[in-house]
Amino acid sequence: MSLPATVEACAAALESGAASSRELVAESLARCEAGSDLNALVSFDADGARAAAEAADARRAAGEAGPLTGVPIVVKDIFCVEGGRTTAGSRMLGDWMAPYDAHLVERLRDAGAVIVGKANMDEFAMGSSGENSAFGPTLNPWDRTRVPGGSSSGSAAAVAGGLVPGAFGTDTGGSIRQPAAFCGLTGMKPTYGRISRYGMIAFASSLDQAGPLAWTAGDAALLLGAVAGFDPRDSTSAERPVPDYLAALDESIEGRTVGFAPALMRNLPAAVQQTLEEVRRTLEACGVRFREVTLETALTGVSAYYVIASAEASTNLSRYDGVRFGHRCADPVDLEDLYCRSRAEGFGEEVKRRILTGTYALSVGYYDAYYRTAQRVRRMIRDEFLSAFADVDAILAPVTPSPAFALGENTADPVAMYLQDVFTIPASLAGLPALSMPAGLDGGLPLGAQLIGPHFGEETLFALAGAFQRETDHHRARPEAAA
Ligand code: GLN
Repeated sequence: MSLPATVEACAAALESGAASSRELVAESLARCEAGSDLNALVSFDADGARAAAEAADARRAAGEAGPLTGVPIVVKDIFCVEGGRTTAGSRMLGDWMAPYDAHLVERLRDAGAVIVGKANMDEFAMGSSGENSAFGPTLNPWDRTRVPGGSSSGSAAAVAGGLVPGAFGTDTGGSIRQPAAFCGLTGMKPTYGRISRYGMIAFASSLDQAGPLAWTAGDAALLLGAVAGFDPRDSTSAERPVPDYLAALDESIEGRTVGFAPALMRNLPAAVQQTLEEVRRTLEACGVRFREVTLETALTGVSAYYVIASAEASTNLSRYDGVRFGHRCADPVDLEDLYCRSRAEGFGEEVKRRILTGTYALSVGYYDAYYRTAQRVRRMIRDEFLSAFADVDAILAPVTPSPAFALGENTADPVAMYLQDVFTIPASLAGLPALSMPAGLDGGLPLGAQLIGPHFGEETLFALAGAFQRETDHHRARPEAAA
């Protein structure tokens, strides 16, 4: 049997006996080879995946299988997988072998999911296009001259290219939602603290969160449910029960209220505007009421984000010094030479830019002007969201200003690249859950719509996305390569 496109269809095929995990994983591995031009994976572990598939089939035969048992997936190469290379897309960690499994990986193994490979990514998750990887850019399966988005570039391309039905990425300022939008997928960045980050390489610790990418809201719900929950090894992980996200998908949305913020809708390209209007009409037809909310400071978030995220990155990345972790230069003459050359050789351009910006923003004399001001803006954005959620259950917003751009189009201008995140950053700064779902095509390329919820409001987002996907077919659009 060929590999079904969705996680739920794979689960159904395994459950009914129409396919074994051995067959699905073999097909997925064959597609990873055939689709290698996408450069979606940094590494794949064929032997390990085949062994895990055999174990999954045995588990199913023993009547101990869950919905993910035997389903092939990939995880972004930012999650530690014991005994395997974990690179974070960087030369700095090019041949580093993780000594333990990330919490998310452990949970996936417990569920019986088969990790076939590690997905390519922008170096240390810094980027919006997948072009900042030390292992070369990932291509968009919808149009190989375009970027898949970033930084979870390989996770999105692996699903959209049909290599696997589901993937995990991370999102600090948009890195799940933006690639999901560019690749026609549903991506969920859960509430800050919903998934443990133990074993997930840090970029900006007050923002980083893991989450799923897949074709449908149902798949995203299933994948999130498998990995969410408290873990004492991550002090930021939330100690609260994990709801049944799959059940939330079928809840009625009649009578719920969704906000729209005029400040987020100004000067949008016509295609993005029309897409959001169509989402609104569809949800209204399901009984949702729309109501205006005020988010006047949200769009200033991008400036605050690039100060805060870079400041945190500059401290998190200080551990890569050629001594404890990471690339070590050849023949250092003294300690300073060791630090300077190891870091100069190990890090790419964008990572260096962030470290320099972040160090500057934290330095004496500039701290108040930059870092403290950025934190104030962050607080204002959060407060605006919280007062909006006094009146509405969720907020509808764009994900990206345009569909996937061409490879190379924004590489010469870092600020143009940063502005790609203008619509995803506000929810990140406020720690809110936000989902990106396919909502149309523009010139043959996918466009997404974003639903932002209150803290731990993932169920509402799944209910809205579930209803939307029952009414529309956007999540069924596939690039030719994955058809
Ligand atoms: N594109 C944003 C950045 O470069 C967001 C990255 C992310 O969410 N990891 O920082």
